[in-house]
Amino acid sequence: MTIQCNETHQPTLRSWVSSANADDNEFPIQNLPYGIFRRRGSSEQFRAGVAIGDQILDLRVAHAAGAFVAADAQTQAAVHAAVAGATLNPLMDLDAGAWSALRLALSRLLRSDCSAAQQALLTPCLVAQSDAEHALPAQIGDYTDFYTSIHHATAIGKLFRPDNPLLPNYKWVPIGYHGRASSIDVSGQQFRRPLGQTRAPDAEVPVFGPCKRLDYELEVGVFIGNGNALGEAIPMANAEAHVFGLCLLNDWSARDMQAWEYQPLGPFLAKNFASTISPWIVTLEALAPYRAGWTRDSADPQPLPYLDDAGLRDHGALDVQLEVLIQTPAMRSAGLAPHRLSLSNFRDSYWSVSQLVAHHTVNGCNLRGGDLLGSGTQSGPTPEAAGSLLELTAGGKQALTLPGGETRIFIQDGDTIIMRGSARRDGWPRIGFGEVAGTVLPARTVV
Ligand code: MN
Repeated sequence: MTIQCNETHQPTLRSWVSSANADDNEFPIQNLPYGIFRRRGSSEQFRAGVAIGDQILDLRVAHAAGAFVAADAQTQAAVHAAVAGATLNPLMDLDAGAWSALRLALSRLLRSDCSAAQQALLTPCLVAQSDAEHALPAQIGDYTDFYTSIHHATAIGKLFRPDNPLLPNYKWVPIGYHGRASSIDVSGQQFRRPLGQTRAPDAEVPVFGPCKRLDYELEVGVFIGNGNALGEAIPMANAEAHVFGLCLLNDWSARDMQAWEYQPLGPFLAKNFASTISPWIVTLEALAPYRAGWTRDSADPQPLPYLDDAGLRDHGALDVQLEVLIQTPAMRSAGLAPHRLSLSNFRDSYWSVSQLVAHHTVNGCNLRGGDLLGSGTQSGPTPEAAGSLLELTAGGKQALTLPGGETRIFIQDGDTIIMRGSARRDGWPRIGFGEVAGTVLPARTVV
């Protein structure tokens, strides 16, 4: 399935929500990402909204006000699903045609040329983003984390296995593991530094205590929609019809615990204490103009047929710029802005979103609406484009200097890590992902 550009992508579209038309705005009318929100500090029900400029269109209030009464049956079904509960799962369980119908209806309602009566109807349905707080956009049933950046896999492999950095399966199999959904939370998450077992390289026995090498991983999150039945595979040609949209994901990682525990079955407690996602899901349809051809170096193995198709080669990659920033407590009190640690691009991923879906289901494994796939750390080809501190500090050997003169090797208590993402293309508006921020608190006291 190929999502074609349509009237909702027109670069010339403007919204009657004037903040959506500003050049530096992440949520122009061509974006229309979904999230779950309520007024900050209120006891209101969490509900679905769509970001437009610096506002959120409250879908439940808009529906109750009759904004969608004249819509076709498919749009009506999508609206009913979107307002059915406190998560986007019912909407995700519909198909790509319904998602597209709702996007078109929203685009038409929010355009500058919609009638004065419609604008008057919808204006009371707007909530300022600055007045909102978010919950997870979906109930995440299962979470799978992949390892799709060959630059990250090679750099990490060198640290763990200097003689043998890239294992022989890497260029054939999209490597992944089943992660933990219960500890995933939305941006703003604060969590205690994990406790666990670690063993120093020169020590004979492990010790128990707070993680000393706490890291982040810059990842893209893929929300599944329209799941497949158990026993049925999703072929490449249809894989994107099962992707509702993308978010940003920080896969916090305890490197010292990971080094001690990861063999033979892979990450466990080093990864499952917290993961943080951005509140907005940018739909795959919104990203249609920002596709790029997916390529595989001719010196590398070409994908097996079940992981290849013409659509992949033509437009399988996504040009999404990804950024990581840090703000320490000292920077906060000195009024210093968050400091950029790295910049990379999802386009450099070795495996595409469609390949992750096709591979995950090729054995008959069923994906369900609301399942989350992590892309794995997105590191670029240059050292400064690394998506984790482990890489940026050369395995913890080279400290980074921050504004104000502090240094960091790994994350310290009170540090906030922020990730941002945006799709850009000349002649097209910038589509932002918003941001995901998370803060590390001191470890629980061991008694
Ligand atoms: Mn990860």
